[in-house]
Amino acid sequence: MQPAGLYIHIPFCRARCSYCDFATGAYEGALAERYVRAVGDEIKTFRLTEDAPDVDTIYFGGGTPSLLAPSQLAHILNAARERFRVAENAEVTMEMNPGTVTAEALREFRAHGVNRASFGAQTFDDLELKRLGRTHTAADVRRTFALLREAGFTNISFDLIAGLPSQTLDGWSRNLTQALSLRPEHLSFYILEVHEGTPLADQIRRGAEMRPDDDLAAKMYRVMLERSLAEGYEHYEISNLCLPGYESRHNTKYWTGDAVYGFGCSAHSFDGRLARWSNERDAARYTALVEAGQTPVVETTQLDERAARAESIFLGLRLMRGVDLEEHRTRFGADLRAEYGDDLKRLSEAGLIELDHGSMKLTTSGALLSNEVFLTFV
Ligand code: SF4
Repeated sequence: MQPAGLYIHIPFCRARCSYCDFATGAYEGALAERYVRAVGDEIKTFRLTEDAPDVDTIYFGGGTPSLLAPSQLAHILNAARERFRVAENAEVTMEMNPGTVTAEALREFRAHGVNRASFGAQTFDDLELKRLGRTHTAADVRRTFALLREAGFTNISFDLIAGLPSQTLDGWSRNLTQALSLRPEHLSFYILEVHEGTPLADQIRRGAEMRPDDDLAAKMYRVMLERSLAEGYEHYEISNLCLPGYESRHNTKYWTGDAVYGFGCSAHSFDGRLARWSNERDAARYTALVEAGQTPVVETTQLDERAARAESIFLGLRLMRGVDLEEHRTRFGADLRAEYGDDLKRLSEAGLIELDHGSMKLTTSGALLSNEVFLTFV
């Protein structure tokens, strides 16, 4: 079995962005301190196995993990190193938002072992940032990026969002120019989704914001690919590109079906075989449960063979190298070509997938319509 990954959820932000539906709330010092202790305790009492599982990636996501004090981060990492056999060369990623860290904090995060920053730039247009309810400016992106480099971060990922209300193709292209000129090692690209219950959904309903245009977002995706590939980036997953050798090792575990154990509120776990489970979503309730010595797990799912097979196909298809048909046959004893022959022919003729050299992979059009392709297999 491959070494596992650890995901640690930090559910605090400076303010809530208008499109956000993640489990996060405003930073509150007293709760954050109790929460960090609770996460440390949850890690130390991990009981899936008696021995210490091998781990080679740790990912602090949120929320805004960079709001943690370095000592709080150290508390959680120490708990992880106590309970798991964390590899010397483990990839340790921390999501950071522009303007939320000082040079000194960055140096301390690095000293504690953080060696990769996932940086929530989103856009370089101040008006777009404001309309999204983000608390940073484009100048903050450049300043924090420079601080990261000065602190010695040589593996930085940028998050960029396209398909924003009122965003134009020219505006998006200018964004890309600025992002690429900084040459981050990794790019994660998202098309804005409007989630019910968010302020943005309400603004669109009232006509205060325009509904994002799907066709325009698709053009932005293609422009992003063309520009990034021309600059030497590799497209390795539907939404992710990197300079050679800088794939996210942690996120790749989700797509290849390796074990990832999640800690903190709303964290999800997978044992790398058939079991998935998830934690209480609310930070205060999660903390109270752990403090009371109770499990924060609120939902457990045992996949049957059929569901595991479907997951393996659509998660594998997210990777641009695709699904290895022979590997799939060895693992599940099922021949995809025989089982889905007509569907594969239809998807292939529609230009959504390519079948060659024993693999099945998405085309660029297929990547844009990936959910429709995945439906074939679930
Ligand atoms: S910074 Fe991220 S997690 Fe926090 S509110 Fe904004 S979108 Fe949500």
